[in-house]
Amino acid sequence: MLNLFPWQQAQWQRFLSMQNQNRLPHALLLTGNQGLGLMHFAQLISRHLLCLNPNADNQFCGACQSCQLFEVGNHPDIQIIEPEEAGKQLKVAQIRELIEFMSLKSFTTKNKIVTLCPAEAMNRSTANALLKTLEEPPAQSMLILISHHPERLPITIRSRCQRIEFKPAANQGTIEWLEQQNIEIDYSVDILLNLTGGAPLSIIDMLENNIFAERQHVVADIENIMKDKVNVIELASRWESLGCGQVISWLMRFCQDLARLKLLGSEAEVINSDLRHQLLNLAKHLEINRIMHIYDYLQDKYLESTAQSNFNSLSLLEEIIIYWNNPEHIK
Ligand SMILES: [Zn+2]
Repeated sequence: MLNLFPWQQAQWQRFLSMQNQNRLPHALLLTGNQGLGLMHFAQLISRHLLCLNPNADNQFCGACQSCQLFEVGNHPDIQIIEPEEAGKQLKVAQIRELIEFMSLKSFTTKNKIVTLCPAEAMNRSTANALLKTLEEPPAQSMLILISHHPERLPITIRSRCQRIEFKPAANQGTIEWLEQQNIEIDYSVDILLNLTGGAPLSIIDMLENNIFAERQHVVADIENIMKDKVNVIELASRWESLGCGQVISWLMRFCQDLARLKLLGSEAEVINSDLRHQLLNLAKHLEINRIMHIYDYLQDKYLESTAQSNFNSLSLLEEIIIYWNNPEHIK
């Protein structure tokens, strides 16, 4: 049986219909947020295309030599290219390795499949190195690019790939899947999907690491910032340990809720409904203009933090803490 996640059904059908019509491209671009299982999907495609004996429903058999090699994680026709360290760029040498791999003859006499993730970890020279392969793909090869920020890919790369897009997951199947995961969920599934932008695998990860509970502390931190009761450096380093991008995205969602509470009153619908009481309290001490300024500022900082370039997350968080209290003094 194919082990698809319930939010990947439409994308899988799209892939199958390309295959059934003999329109499979040499390069696929899978796009969507982190936490949607795009690598998992790419692996399913690889396994599916390499099976030597697919059954009538077009599913891999699980028994042939190719399926067995896949099972032990040692298939010679599959390669995965990732940055050597998370958050770092891909190297030209890695792209050369990819090109050489794709030009070799397939072991199972089917395809050679390379998955590259994340594609936005290519800079101009790595993208150029890859471009030639995209323009003249070796026979019987497939390249699967995975991107969480496709807007950052050069148009020359994007235009040569067939794109399969994954939207935030929120369907009934997803909700049931989450409820079946045997984890203690103290929050409603709606809140969790809202907080992660519809990324079920991120929810699992964050629940296991008790990350959601940390949001409560961050709201308390903001109360303390506003009372001038924090050590900026200490707080920034604690926030950094939670993940810089993570904390900024929480702060942005807090601001959205604060603005709603301010404009629509205490009963307004909010994202962080489990923190309504604390947020209401904060809203009392903030003017709407200031909330908007802070939100804009956070949005800029969020883009900075995800722009891959080597940024200093500690000083970025320090700036945010200082800005929260003095938005009119900076910029
Ligand atoms: Zn098989």
